[in-house]
Order: sequence, then structure tokens, then C-alpha cells
Amino acid sequence: MFAVTGVYHRYFSHKSYSTSRFGQFLLALFGATCVQRGALWWAYHHRHHHQHSDEPADAHSPHIHGFWWSHIGWITSRRNFPTDYSKVRDLAKYPELVFLNRFDVLVPVVFAAALFGTGHYLSYSAPALHTSGSQLLVWGFFVSTTLLFHGTSCINSLAHLIGRRRFDTDDDSRNSFILSLITLGEGWHNNHHRYMSATRQGFYWWEIDLTYYLLKVLSWTGFIWDLKGVPTSIYREAEQRHHRDAAARSSTSSVQGEINALNHAAPTKAPSATSSVNSADGTGPKKQVAGPTILNNLRELVAPRAPAATTEGSKP
Ligand SMILES: [Zn+2]
Ligand SMILES: [Zn+2]
Repeated sequence: MFAVTGVYHRYFSHKSYSTSRFGQFLLALFGATCVQRGALWWAYHHRHHHQHSDEPADAHSPHIHGFWWSHIGWITSRRNFPTDYSKVRDLAKYPELVFLNRFDVLVPVVFAAALFGTGHYLSYSAPALHTSGSQLLVWGFFVSTTLLFHGTSCINSLAHLIGRRRFDTDDDSRNSFILSLITLGEGWHNNHHRYMSATRQGFYWWEIDLTYYLLKVLSWTGFIWDLKGVPTSIYREAEQRHHRDAAARSSTSSVQGEINALNHAAPTKAPSATSSVNSADGTGPKKQVAGPTILNNLRELVAPRAPAATTEGSKP
């Protein structure tokens, strides 16, 4: 999973941290073990997604093309096989990366063969482990690759469907705690769509982002550096949005509180009783109309989409 999230996504697609040219080559080799094509192909399609997110040109928008297409259909379609090198010029200038991208089957085959060889060797050298070449190949390559694919594909499909939106981005990206646990932090997708250059996608300490923690540890070794943070202006924007939502919630609840108090004082289901009380204490006809009218108006304010319930409630 880290090969996709920490390498293909946060390095090759967004360059959210730096490394040496040799380090970059090692990252490309490591990234290719995820069996999701070459680094340049991945980066090209991902950058395209950010440019056209949830628009018709987006190759894997669940809103435009449906869930299954965004989850798996798009990657199996021939029209999405090529890499447009003109859109990833910063990466295409390195021939070693272009080589790995053109022969993207090479690393997965070597990786699978190495797993089989290791399992075969261990079956003789350490029989107590009860492993074999085919066992390591099936679990370490085929099963893990399939699970990894569906885990990361959830970001293409579900991260634009479920969760909360902190930022008003021009797509439908969302933040999801569950998806973040599955994908090592990639589930903070609305954060990421708002500010894609940051190394971290969980913008706060409580937004668990294992990919970022691993990259941070890696930076202490000197293998990578220049991890990019989240600007103060983005945090300020998040706070403003939070205050706005909190104010909207509190004004709604205070209006609701007044309605409850009025309901308690003058239940609308007994207008005749209210009427007779008003007549008896001599307060005149004004109150007979004003009570239910205020209630109705307030109800419409709080639940403007439920006129039927309002009308029904005012019936005797
Ligand atoms: Zn997205
Ligand atoms: Zn991205």
C-alpha cells in the first residue's frame, strides 16, 4: 500500500517531497511492485484526475461514469492504457523512468519470481516454517495485489461518494476516517483536493495518516527531504468553514428550541382549546391567530422542505 500512497501518489504524482535521482529510481522500482502500471502512467492519469475532477473528462469519476467504472472499469479500458508523456514532462526527462514505464511488466514479473524463489529456498533451508514457493507466490503476490488494488481503488470510487466535505472544492471529494485507515491516510481526500502539494493529507493530529508518518521517518534517514506542509491560509479557511457551520447549527437549534417552547405553551393540535382560553381571559382574537402563525412560520424556517407536515400539524 505504501508503494502506491507514499511513492506513486505523493512523490511521482505531486512531488510533495524531494529525493536524489538515484533515490527516485529506487522509488520507481519499489512503486512498480504494486502492479499498477508504471510511475509515469500512474502520475499522468492522477494529475488528469485533479485537473478534471468529477467532470466528463475525468477517467474515473463515480458521478460521471458510475461506481464500477470508477472502481475497476476505467483501468481495464484500452483507451486508458497509453501514457501522455507531454503531461508528465518533469518525469519523462529521465530515461530510466521512461524505461520502467514502457516495460511496466518487468518489475512485477521479477518480484513474483523472487517471491517464488524465496519460498522454494525456505522450504528446504527452514522446513519448520512450512512454506513453499507457491504459497509465497499466491499470498505474497496474487492475493496481496488484488487486495491492494481494491483498497486503493476505493479512493477513486468511494472517496468521491462517502464522508464529509471540509472544503468547498469544485468536485465532490470527501474526507473519510474509514477509508483513511484502509489506505494509510489517503481517505482525507477532500483535504487533498483542496491542497494537493502537501505531503500530509491528514491536516490535523487526529486525522490519522500513516503514509505521512512513514515518510516523516524516512526523511530522518536523509533518503528523502523537503516534505511540504500545509499553508496557514488553508488552516484559516478550514477554521472559517468550521465556525460558519457551527453558527448555522446553533442558530437552527435555538430556533428549534423556541418552537419547542411555543409548542409546549400552545400545542397546535388543540387550536380550539387555545381559542376558548383566549376568549375566556379576554385577550382578543389577535392571539388566537398569532400563536399558530408564528409557530408555522418558525417551522417553515427550520424545515422548509416539510410544508405537508406543517399543514397537517395545524389541523385540529
Ligand atoms: Zn479525487
Ligand atoms: Zn492526488
